[in-house]
Amino acid sequence: MKCLFCAIVNGEIPADIVRQSDNVLAFNDINPVAPTHILIIPKIHSENAAELTLANPEVLIECFEMAASIAKERELNGYRTVFNTGADGGQSVFHAHLHLLGGRALSWPPG
Ligand code: 5GP
Ligand code: ZN
Repeated sequence: MKCLFCAIVNGEIPADIVRQSDNVLAFNDINPVAPTHILIIPKIHSENAAELTLANPEVLIECFEMAASIAKERELNGYRTVFNTGADGGQSVFHAHLHLLGGRALSWPPG
C-alpha cells in the first residue's frame, strides 16, 4: 500500500511545509490539536520510531533537533515531542513522525 507521508515527501500530496533539511521534513498537522502542531518526519521511510532508531539513529536525532529549533524560533513556553508507536500507542500513519505540540498548556497524563 502507498505511504501517505512518503507521498508528501515526494510532493505527490501537498503539505504546509514548515522547514526541511536533506534528511528531515516538518509540516503542519492537518488536524492540529494545539496552536503549534507540527509533524517532523524522516524523508526515508521507516515504519515507526523503533525502526528509525535502528536504521538511522542520526536522523532520529535530527528530528528532535528540528523540533527544538522550531520551538526556540517560536518562543514556545515549553512543548511536547511524541512518537506514537503501534495501535495502543495511537499511531495511525505508519511512517515515523515526531509530533511537536505547543502554544498552550498541555495536560498529563495523555488520554
Ligand atoms: P498518529 O496518530 O499516527 O500519531 O499521527 C498521525 C497524524 O497525521 C495525525 O495527527 C493526523 O492529523 C495527521 N495527518 C493525517 N493525514 C494527514 C495529511 O494528509 N496531511 C497532514 N499534514 N497531516 C495528516
Ligand atoms: Zn513512508
